[in-house]
Amino acid sequence: MKEEARVQYLFLDMNSYFASVEQQENPSLLGRPVAVVPILTEKTCAIAASYEAKAFGIKTGTMIYEAKKLCPDLIIVPARHDVYVEYHHAIMEELERHLPIETIHSVDEAVCRLIGDECRPERAIRLAQEIKAGISRNIGPAIKCSIGLSVNTYLAKLATELEKPDGLLVLHLNQLPERILHMRLSALPWIGRRIERRLQATGVRDVATLWSLSPGRLRRIWGSVMGQRFWYMLHGIQVPPIETKKHMVGHSHVLAPPLRLPERAHLVARRLITKAASRMRRMGYWSTETGVSVRFVGGNRWRKYAPTQSTQDSFTLLRALDRMWKEMQIIYGPQYIKQVSIVLSRLSNQPDLCPDLFSRLPTTEDRAHSRRISLSRALDGLNRRYGRDTVTFGIQPPVKANYIGAKIAFTRIPEREEFRE
Ligand SMILES: [Mg+2]
Repeated sequence: MKEEARVQYLFLDMNSYFASVEQQENPSLLGRPVAVVPILTEKTCAIAASYEAKAFGIKTGTMIYEAKKLCPDLIIVPARHDVYVEYHHAIMEELERHLPIETIHSVDEAVCRLIGDECRPERAIRLAQEIKAGISRNIGPAIKCSIGLSVNTYLAKLATELEKPDGLLVLHLNQLPERILHMRLSALPWIGRRIERRLQATGVRDVATLWSLSPGRLRRIWGSVMGQRFWYMLHGIQVPPIETKKHMVGHSHVLAPPLRLPERAHLVARRLITKAASRMRRMGYWSTETGVSVRFVGGNRWRKYAPTQSTQDSFTLLRALDRMWKEMQIIYGPQYIKQVSIVLSRLSNQPDLCPDLFSRLPTTEDRAHSRRISLSRALDGLNRRYGRDTVTFGIQPPVKANYIGAKIAFTRIPEREEFRE
């Protein structure tokens, strides 16, 4: 068999993922235009749209008041990230029944590497059909996916973009660039708005021109080695991913209107930091820096980082947060707050003690600190066993916010445990 006919990677991309999960969970939504939103207000945007809603021009990022103008019958559903994570695990288990997973790219994307006989397109297509049938049978018929097959992960992903929804496509190297000439630059994976603007500024407005550029030219346009990597991936050469090491734990929350009063936002920030601390303890990390950032309703932002002693202790972290919060209130006064984010950074996998701590006897404060760490761990155990918020640190935000904290980002899928922290 000729080398260029072989495929090496299978890319699975779920279609309108959050919206199809909602349709699968609630049959009355089947066949209807659905938009999933982070909070129930007109001033938010869709984070997912069903294919029926997409037919009206609604997509991820469309503002809800605009979406309702496009489609007055649009059904708005608040996001349930815990449900999407459960489905994610079930889908990955189904995929694993057919092929070993090489990488999980996001909550709705995964890659499998093909070997031996699986690289024959006919065999790979059959595998893809079995995966689709398995997802439909075992996860639910409303859960649709596009599967792309190609010589590297990039082109396999690109193949999923070419046929949606419910696509199955082999993209061969010798079909390029013809097969993708019709695509807008921003429709290509890795080309975000910023890179698209840079490309346009240098006169690159279509895929044909992009295709003709050299790796060095793309590196200069990107302003980093990513441009060069992009060239190789687009031209069918697999470039190994850059290893990223975990160096922070954080949570962010967009506040529903009743939580925007500064004192309530403060309670949310405290809730977020105890969640992050609990997650950090579960992962076995210690932090020496705490950061908080706030976006006000008017658009102003405030951010501050403060060093702490090397700790896993929720009480120490809460104190650091409260100190920074007080500073913020002195500067900004009582303004409504739209979003709070907290981050625990400079993580290490053991307590990072100052050298002189080794040479001196533990003080009363050291002993109190280690007792608070044990207490924090004991509280984690209770919450894990009896459900989140069985035991909490102080007052909780007055409005029940189900999806506070654990949320699905494009690059990070919460673990199941996070929904109990
Ligand atoms: Mg998708």
